[in-house]
Amino acid sequence: MITFEQLNLIEPILKALKAEGYTKPTPIQEQAIPILLQGKDLLGCAQTGTGKTAAFAIPILQLLTTQQRNEGGRKKIKALVLTPTRELAIQIEESFAAYGKFTGIKQTVIFGGVSQHSQVERLNRGIDILIATPGRLLDLMQQGYVHLNELQFFVLDEADRMLDMGFVNDVKKVIAKLPKKRHSLFFSATMPPVIQSLADSILFNPSKVEVTPASSTADTIQQSLYFVSKGDKKKLLIHLLETEKMNSVLVFTRTKHGADRVVKDLDKAGIRSAAIHGNKSQNARQNALNDFKTGKIKVLLATDIASRGIDIDELSHVINYELPNIPETYVHRIGRTGRAGFNGIAFSFCEEEEFGELKDIQKLIGKKIPVNDSHPFPLGTAYSDHAPMQAKPKKQIPPHNKPSSRKPEHKPKRHWRGRD
Ligand code: AMP
Repeated sequence: MITFEQLNLIEPILKALKAEGYTKPTPIQEQAIPILLQGKDLLGCAQTGTGKTAAFAIPILQLLTTQQRNEGGRKKIKALVLTPTRELAIQIEESFAAYGKFTGIKQTVIFGGVSQHSQVERLNRGIDILIATPGRLLDLMQQGYVHLNELQFFVLDEADRMLDMGFVNDVKKVIAKLPKKRHSLFFSATMPPVIQSLADSILFNPSKVEVTPASSTADTIQQSLYFVSKGDKKKLLIHLLETEKMNSVLVFTRTKHGADRVVKDLDKAGIRSAAIHGNKSQNARQNALNDFKTGKIKVLLATDIASRGIDIDELSHVINYELPNIPETYVHRIGRTGRAGFNGIAFSFCEEEEFGELKDIQKLIGKKIPVNDSHPFPLGTAYSDHAPMQAKPKKQIPPHNKPSSRKPEHKPKRHWRGRD
């Protein structure tokens, strides 16, 4: 496994990555950063949650930093990142700000649906990097507030989603106004033919980087599924921790807040645990991890992002307190047990609202996760406890786990932002 230092990153960026708590590059970063530092165009096939933002932000920041000179007057836009939604735009801007905080590079973000006033003010002060949604960018370009004649880097992010959202014409209009000689990067989670031809029209002799999602679950891992209401999850967790023989358990929640809440719940029940996530200092995380490795605590709470840095071979159990929105994440999570020839056990909690996630996971792994329904908190009891007036069925098992078919709630998942 390669380190950020081995990717030849400059000191101000290494320092910022350390401050962010990143210990090693994700696979897309490992592959994309060297290609981009060489000045090559890139076609990246990767979805959100893989670390793709840093994969393009870090090399752009590094190249702009090393060529930084006194521009005599206000800074000109040298990099443009086009992304489909306001939320993504804001997150990308925050990433550039975080990784570039010791570089002197300036960036800003523009998006529609809000007054343009402060955005224009910021643009007028001069910036190096602009992150934008297509509509607002075109608007401000037409009004003469955005000049891209000095542009060196162009990133098209989430291209397939641009297409879904009907932004492709706006994107093409923007591209028509960019300098022909530039370094272009193109990211898309999927590559249908229209997206491929859009990529062909933008990129010059690109290197392709693909992070293939994991889809198979190791046979050495014994998986079981617990249908349980949201309110009963903590009771079920405590019950399992007290009744099952578990040496070392990694419990996954979707959010940092959720991880902290479970630590408190366990604490009240007299079970020691610790959470590791991006809000904790490097020291706090290291201490929690050491306590876990030495067996001082047997329960560790983690979010998907924070768990990347964890490398423990003898994990006896993984518990999915909440199912992940991205099915491949399920495979990654449970793959943390059953390593190094050990048998692993993975328990997954599923509340009614997670039926859609469960369906996607089972589709990906190509099998049904065996259901354990001999536990004290089967789905249905919480309704009768808390909502006696509401006649809810006693027990609701999603259709793909029983022969009759009742459609589960459908939720869009593909574009979930896996922010820690
Ligand atoms: P992205 O796929 O770009 O949306 O990134 C998903 C999340 O991964 C973001 O919250 C990043 O802060 C985080 N992240 C990116 N690279 C790393 C890394 N090398 N180590 C740990 N977290 C990372």
